[in-house]
Amino acid sequence: MTLTTHRAETRSPAPATNAATPSNQAAPSRRANLKMCGECNLCCKVYDVEDLEKKAGHHCHHSGRQGGCGIWGLHPKSCQDFKCLWLKHDDMSGLWRPDNAGFVMRLEAGGRNVIIDVDPDRPHAWKSEPYYSQIKAWSEIMPRNEGLVLCYAPEGLYVVTPMEDLLLRAPKKGDVLETGMEISLFGLQPFARVIPAKEATRKRA
Ligand code: SF4
Ligand code: SF4
Repeated sequence: MTLTTHRAETRSPAPATNAATPSNQAAPSRRANLKMCGECNLCCKVYDVEDLEKKAGHHCHHSGRQGGCGIWGLHPKSCQDFKCLWLKHDDMSGLWRPDNAGFVMRLEAGGRNVIIDVDPDRPHAWKSEPYYSQIKAWSEIMPRNEGLVLCYAPEGLYVVTPMEDLLLRAPKKGDVLETGMEISLFGLQPFARVIPAKEATRKRA
C-alpha cells in the first residue's frame, strides 16, 4: 500500500554555472558562501541545456578547459540558476567537488531526495570511497523525511538503499518519477518508480 507519494519530472535540464562572479552568488544570508567552482565545470557536461540544444553527457562548447563559461553574463537562465550541492554546502570538503568526485549532486522533491548525476566518463566513481559509504549513510537517513537517494548513471537510475542499489530503467524526457513510502513485509520502505510520459499525461488528464 502506498502511503505517500511525491512526483517530479525527471532530470530537468539543469545546467551549469561558475560561481566565481557576483551575479552567481546566493541571496544574502547570515553566512557568506565561501566556495567557488574553480576549475570544475562538470555540470556543464552532465546536464542538458535546452536553450543551447546541448545534450547531457557532452561538454558545452562554451565551457573552458580550466573551468569557466565563455558566454558568462549571456549564459542561459537555467545555467545561471544552478548550484550543485557541493557549492551550496561549506561543510562538504574539496574531495566532493564534482570534478574530483566524478558526479554532481543536487536536491529534488523539495529537498527530500538527494540526487547524484554521474559523469558518464567515470561511471563507477560514486561507488568508490569515501563516497559510497557516505552515500549509503544518507540512504538510511533520507527515508526518515520520506526522501530517497537516487543516482542517475549511464545504465539507468539507481535507488540507493542501505541493503542494495535497485536499478530502474533510465527515465526519458517527460517521464515522471514517483517516490514515496509504502508498507512492505520489512516495514515502512521507500519506493521509486518511473511512469512513462504517455501514461503520466493520461493520469494527469
Ligand atoms: S558542478 Fe557545482 S562546482 Fe562544478 S561548476 Fe557546476 S555548480 Fe560549480
Ligand atoms: S553556457 Fe556556460 S554555464 Fe551554461 S553549460 Fe555552457 S559553459 Fe556551462
